[in-house]
Amino acid sequence: MDPREEIRNRLDFKSLVERYVPLRPAGKGRWKGLCPFHNEKTPSFYVDEAKGMFYCFGCKAGGDAFKFVQMIEGVDFREALEKLAQETGVELPERAPGRKPSKDLIEVNRLALAYFQKNLTGAALEYLKGRGLSNETIDTYALGFAPKSWDGLLRYLQQHGVSPELALRAGVVAAKDGRYYDRLRDRVVFPIRDPMGRVVAFTGRAISAGDTPKYLNTPESDVFKKTDLLYGYPEARKAIRESKRAIVVEGLFDVLALAQMGWRETVAVLGSSLSQSQARLLERAEASRLYLAFDADEAGRKATLAGLDVGVARRFLTYAVLLPEGHDPGDLLTDPEGKKAFAAALEEALPEVEYRFMAAAEGVDIANAEGKRQVLEELLPRLVDADPLDPVAEALKAVIVDRLRLDPRALEDLIYSQRRRKRPSVERAQVEAASDNLEDRLLLLELDVIAQLLAADPENFADWVRYAEDHTWPPKGSFLAEFIAVAEEEGYRPRRILDRFSERSEGGRLFERLILSGSEYPAEYKETLDKSLARLREGYLRRKRNILIRRLKQEPENALDLLKEVQELDEAIEAERRRYRTGNGKG
Ligand SMILES: [Zn+2]
Repeated sequence: MDPREEIRNRLDFKSLVERYVPLRPAGKGRWKGLCPFHNEKTPSFYVDEAKGMFYCFGCKAGGDAFKFVQMIEGVDFREALEKLAQETGVELPERAPGRKPSKDLIEVNRLALAYFQKNLTGAALEYLKGRGLSNETIDTYALGFAPKSWDGLLRYLQQHGVSPELALRAGVVAAKDGRYYDRLRDRVVFPIRDPMGRVVAFTGRAISAGDTPKYLNTPESDVFKKTDLLYGYPEARKAIRESKRAIVVEGLFDVLALAQMGWRETVAVLGSSLSQSQARLLERAEASRLYLAFDADEAGRKATLAGLDVGVARRFLTYAVLLPEGHDPGDLLTDPEGKKAFAAALEEALPEVEYRFMAAAEGVDIANAEGKRQVLEELLPRLVDADPLDPVAEALKAVIVDRLRLDPRALEDLIYSQRRRKRPSVERAQVEAASDNLEDRLLLLELDVIAQLLAADPENFADWVRYAEDHTWPPKGSFLAEFIAVAEEEGYRPRRILDRFSERSEGGRLFERLILSGSEYPAEYKETLDKSLARLREGYLRRKRNILIRRLKQEPENALDLLKEVQELDEAIEAERRRYRTGNGKG
């Protein structure tokens, strides 16, 4: 059996969800609770036990157990699969030959961490305490110490059956002229974890004056790529999800200090700027605002925003945090006013959109019309290219309206006219908009039919799918046609079919329909389905009609024939409407 299916069979989906979300009954086999993926006061998050699915009517999050784990833990599909496999005791086939050694590297790191933690005593512990860290923080972030020894870790690992070669591959040991030695010596050690919480690397901070470099990393390995990870991410994820924001810093001590002061949503980049894949991690934890606390001077703050990756900037409302001169967040613990100072800095953080506006308005007199025009010209492209719900564009609009004292409607009109100018012609845009609408409606009608098919008695599911096909002849390329093809390929097993659609944009809407449709097999199943099929046929006919009307404009010479066809279609459309209105099924 497919491991995915086996896991689902063994898994109690409801109790999995209940670990994170208190649920209460909501009808037969259904449960509801407060959505863990958005903030709400009344429950719109539903769980369907029989289908093993969840769906939120508020934020439209939905899917199966794997999707749930992916979203709530902020991991990718493979990681969710591994987690649930482990819980249900299902064996996963090895993915690739490289898989096993990775596990070994993780095991080496786990052993090394135990060694480092065991050695955190005396001067090293004093050093950490001297920087203001509490025992709790030291434990939470599993800090340790690498003693001043060339082979302490090497021997410890050998005692635990790890060969020097493997230790070298993990990066905790280095080699020169065929001789192995501990890479980190006389350093406080910070374990670096992947999003699953597994230790994949270490950073060592020198504690003796003059010891260089100050920070030393274990090298990138099969399990560690610097730009893919954020320090402190597994520890911060929950707080990020709750506050919808992340504070991003540069130093490891910055993370510890801010977390200890109560800002648990803090993570550190392990490079110089925030990479796309690091941003994706924050997105998975549902951050919508980023506070970058990078450099402690005004120029640094602007540089932070100016250098922000465009792809990253589009996905979050971003702010640059400026600390008082000469301060790092990491130093704030030993400052009695530290917590207050950082809270104030967060309050006064410079929004990226403010910064963009300031940059565009620099040296321009925005009191006069020409100045306004200049600033608008500079900023408009960002607004014209924006998606409808782009939060950054919305915030930028607000700043523009406020500073330039514009009528918000005038700005909207301007954006609209610029967008239209980019299109080949107004008329085509209108036709496209009209047909977009119909396409959207058609998709909903198709989803409705599909949801009903999936609610059918499993024994007759295949028959009903064929029945729907025979009574609609879904056009090639339509969602229904694809569904029917996939259903056949997957042997008419509903869950396998859903898997194929779960990652697609239509998938979310399908889950919504499924939750709405309930699990019961209605008594008037055929009658209900027949009505939906009639509605869908009407939709398909309307699409045909639209195409004919377009041709009518382009081919006046065929007008008579085309008009006759339109008339026939109108009659067919009317017939379908009668069917679903009166409830007489076809045939
Ligand atoms: Zn929700």
